[in-house]
Amino acid sequence: MVRVFIALGANLGEPRAALAEAQARLRPLGVAPLRRARLYRSAPVGPPGQPPYYNTALEVETALLPDDLLAVLKQIEATMGRTPGERWGPRVIDLDIALYGGLVLDTPELTIPHRELANRAFVLAPLCDLAADLEVPGRGATLAALLEALPRTPGDLEVVEHAVQDVRAAPIPR
Ligand code: ADP
Ligand code: MG
Repeated sequence: MVRVFIALGANLGEPRAALAEAQARLRPLGVAPLRRARLYRSAPVGPPGQPPYYNTALEVETALLPDDLLAVLKQIEATMGRTPGERWGPRVIDLDIALYGGLVLDTPELTIPHRELANRAFVLAPLCDLAADLEVPGRGATLAALLEALPRTPGDLEVVEHAVQDVRAAPIPR
């Protein structure tokens, strides 16, 4: 089993419900959620005029190889109605592999740790809820140090649910 951190984001429809649904869809596909970070609301990046994002992160364990895990995440995105669209455009659900054990990988399909990890407070902050002291493979810095180093705009990231949750027994959706 590998310990993996998945970054989740949603900004269309019912974002909070979408995050919960995505989480519940993982287990039957071989990805067992362990803990969920706090829930955040963030200002959208990319094209203007989008609704705010809801972001969180999951610590999971899986025996899936990175490519197979990516396929599972894309399958869940597709099942939940995400249509391939404008990069950084609005989406029902976005599931990214933030960290995969100690792996450093850079292929056309998959960059691990996630390419934008160190630039995005809405990814780093939830990850810090789960593993602030974890050293990011290939970076020589902890998640907390990367978050600390980011320039921040007041109000760019609000906590909307204050507890880290143990989600080992999360139910499977209907
Ligand atoms: P983004 O998440 O950057 O907003 P998309 O969700 O549209 O953009 O992803 C575009 C592509 O990024 C995916 O098809 C996938 O092949 C690639 N990708 C590269 N690295 C990762 C990663 N660590 N996690 C998820 N997707 C990744
Ligand atoms: Mg993505």
